[in-house]
Amino acid sequence: MSRCRACDCILSDYELTRKSAVTGEYYDLCNHCFSYIKSDVYFKERIDLQDNSDEFEEIDEEGLTDWK
Ligand SMILES: [Zn+2]
Repeated sequence: MSRCRACDCILSDYELTRKSAVTGEYYDLCNHCFSYIKSDVYFKERIDLQDNSDEFEEIDEEGLTDWK
């Protein structure tokens, strides 16, 4: 069992297998922590291990909801 390097929560299989497409190193970050760097990195993930609880949390931006 591994834990998130940032917040120390327990990682799912999906979170555990997410790794950098550049270095091949595993991130060992939960979805919540990874969401903060997601837009800045290239990564590979096992989509087949993803379940409903693994969806990225959307960070609401104030005043940008009109387009929905
Ligand atoms: Zn975390």
